[in-house]
Amino acid sequence: MRSYRVAFLLVVVMCLPLVAASQNQDGLNDNPFLSPYKTPLDTPPFGLIKNEHFLPAMKEGIRREEAEIDAIVNNPAPPTFANTLGALDAGGKLLSEVNSVFGGLQGSETTPELQNIAKQAAPLLAAHNDNIRLNEKLFARIKAVYDQRAKLNLSPEEQFLLQNAYRDFVRGGALLDEKQKSRLRELNQQLSLLSLKFGDNLLAETNDFKLVLDNRGDLAGLPPSVIAMAEETARQLKMPGKWVFTLQVPSMTPFLQNSTRHDLREKLYRAYIMRGDRGNDRDNKDSVRQIVNLRLERAKLLGYRNHAQFILETNMSKTPQAVDSFLSRLWGPALARAKAEVADMQAIIDKEGGNSKLQPWDWWYYAEKVRQSKYALDDAALRPYFKLENVRLGVFTLCEKLYGLKFIERHDIRVYNPEVQVFEVREADGSYVGVVYLDFHPRPSKRGGAWSSSFRREYYDQGKRVAPISTITCNFTRPTADSPSLLSVEEAKTFFHEFGHTLATLLSNAKYRGRSIPRDAIELPSQIMENWALEPELLKLYAKHYQTGAVIPDELVQKLRNSSLFNQGFATVEYLAASILDMDWHELTQAQPAVDVDKFEADAMAKIGLIPEIVPRYRSTYFSHIFNGGYSAGYHVYYWAAQLDADAFEAFKEKGLFDKATATSFRKNILEKYGTGDLMTQYKAFRGAEPKIEPLLRRLGLMPQP
Ligand SMILES: [Zn+2]
Repeated sequence: MRSYRVAFLLVVVMCLPLVAASQNQDGLNDNPFLSPYKTPLDTPPFGLIKNEHFLPAMKEGIRREEAEIDAIVNNPAPPTFANTLGALDAGGKLLSEVNSVFGGLQGSETTPELQNIAKQAAPLLAAHNDNIRLNEKLFARIKAVYDQRAKLNLSPEEQFLLQNAYRDFVRGGALLDEKQKSRLRELNQQLSLLSLKFGDNLLAETNDFKLVLDNRGDLAGLPPSVIAMAEETARQLKMPGKWVFTLQVPSMTPFLQNSTRHDLREKLYRAYIMRGDRGNDRDNKDSVRQIVNLRLERAKLLGYRNHAQFILETNMSKTPQAVDSFLSRLWGPALARAKAEVADMQAIIDKEGGNSKLQPWDWWYYAEKVRQSKYALDDAALRPYFKLENVRLGVFTLCEKLYGLKFIERHDIRVYNPEVQVFEVREADGSYVGVVYLDFHPRPSKRGGAWSSSFRREYYDQGKRVAPISTITCNFTRPTADSPSLLSVEEAKTFFHEFGHTLATLLSNAKYRGRSIPRDAIELPSQIMENWALEPELLKLYAKHYQTGAVIPDELVQKLRNSSLFNQGFATVEYLAASILDMDWHELTQAQPAVDVDKFEADAMAKIGLIPEIVPRYRSTYFSHIFNGGYSAGYHVYYWAAQLDADAFEAFKEKGLFDKATATSFRKNILEKYGTGDLMTQYKAFRGAEPKIEPLLRRLGLMPQP
């Protein structure tokens, strides 16, 4: 997971006319955000920052940026790159500093007071944001610079910054006439309401169904932990003495995996896949129909053929054709593998004398049997080799081998919680790179998951490099009274993953603060790091038993690597089916006011030959990623990124896992320029070609190893 501050500066940095604040306003005296920090490595002064400092500092930040933008638009000199784009990029520093620290604490160390401040700040920041995007005088200056870009002799980074600033305004409707602008506002408003309605309906539909069991016999096959969970759910729902399973995935999946009751599995699964499609007052088919048509109208208003073209323009893939061809190249091998998995499971049914054909609700149950016989891993046997400190050493060793980086723990830097560790990062030649904060374990004040973010992003201030400050926040297994923190393999991989995001922050070498990272490439620096985590060559350097010091046995490593192939046909097919459905909806070029949602979906699946044993991971009426989230025409991005990292890692497999020249090329072409240029161009400079699909197919076990 990842909360990279991707948004382009014009979107993140905002401005709103507030009450003209004077310097002596409450909360500004002694506000640590308003004077130089005087801390080691210029880190945020956590000893001095108090909750009451945030809101006044944000308001002052907004006021300053507003003044900066006023100065840009009222500059009597003709627009130039420096006095418009450069000035805009240099503005808003206070606000972004406060927001970064505030955002960091909100995720890692929140309190009701901070949550309350966030509620007060949100409308101010949103309005500030809108005021910038709707500033016509600002757009006129950017357009004036954009129109003469060919003769301005701009650096590639400057061209990219200019092009993105211009494009963001245009995509927001800046070139439309008044009538069109007003229609665009209507469309945006209707779409946001429909999206909310879709989400509300889905939530109600998900909560509506419960599989309530009151007969012990109905629990056949369920392990005690699953039964206990169902008992607890029943208690919460005031049905003591019964067992309840819901349509929430953590409740439903263990039932589907373990219950020997074919009829009950069917009942639960059917309820899941019929959400929003039951013809009741929470049916989502009408919302789907309207959303698809309104998105198409908006795309056409803005000059695009369809919604997919509008969305993908800012991605690395750039066009719907590129995405379609990517998905179709994966589809054949994945479907073939899924059919083989069906045959394996049918064989088990036949052997058991089941006398029935495998159904969609049987998949988890039989797959679990296959997993236990062929791929079972013993978590308890693995953890001793992944002591947190050893995994950290593995990550640092990898960074040193690839990029020559050194990590020096700093105990003199103030932290927001005593558990947080701070490391100063230096190049092989000793020059200073930046700082990283590591915050490993769960606390009630921390949100779930793992992510990498930053307190400050790298840029150059009057020719001098401003060093980045990155953070990693996780929820890893805590140490206990008698054992250190022993990570699961997933946790260890997560550490490598998040550290990849941090490397993109630390090694960035851009002149400006603006970044624009395409959504389908945001996981490249992180996912590529996961590849090293389980490579025997690196494991030998860090995966040592915490008591005996013995290196993890080869046989355990092999099992670990095999386990990644389990059920990949199914996982890939159900994911691709949903991705293709998403593209089909958003590649429509003609309005379909009367489209039959179920039929459209069935036709789309028939066209690709989806087998009846598998349902797309999301059907239209509960596909919240695309109808109530930010992933329309974009559900495929997870696999697109996987294609990238598999292909990029292949370069290391060809030249050597720690090959310095390959690492330097990855650093120079991608990490240093990440978000400040066209990613496909950068990628080709690294790899010599566009990403190929074969490394991903091999990794998923959909194609034999060479
Ligand atoms: Zn990530």
